Amino acid sequence: MKQKVLHTNAPQKECTDRNCPFHGQLAVKNELFKGKVVKKDMNRSATIELLRSHSVPKYERYEVRRSRMRVHNPPCLDVEIGHSVLVARTRPISKTKNHVIIQVLESSESDMKSTLGLAKESKEFTKNKARKEEKARVGQEEKKQEKRKESKTNVQERVQPEETINDNETN
Ligand SMILES: [Zn+2]
Repeated sequence: MKQKVLHTNAPQKECTDRNCPFHGQLAVKNELFKGKVVKKDMNRSATIELLRSHSVPKYERYEVRRSRMRVHNPPCLDVEIGHSVLVARTRPISKTKNHVIIQVLESSESDMKSTLGLAKESKEFTKNKARKEEKARVGQEEKKQEKRKESKTNVQERVQPEETINDNETN
């Protein structure tokens, strides 16, 4: 039995799973993902969902993309739906599984909710900011320039939240 796998401690409970990184023979690679468990199967499998940022070169911003990943779920970890988990890459365990859960993170649901909440807030913030700017400049600008601005605001709404926050601070 291994006490530590990639700096995460072994769980209290023991298991006899051959594909458990702690109690079995499974080797893990140092390629980690954090995600939320959205589906749990009978056969020691689970599905996690993760949010990742994807760069959009045309607008020089990031957008949030959502991915799902099939992962191995060792019985010693007691993973439940809604838990936020740490996942490591392994050799292929089955046709669809190349990853194994190695840790259940403490801040399970609140973590994901806060990131999603942040996204909504900053989205509204950028919208309001865009409206204010439009009001202030309407008198000064010509019609052509207004048209340009409308397209600009559309771009801002699509943009990834963290990036827009930074933009606002620098402005
Ligand atoms: Zn185990």
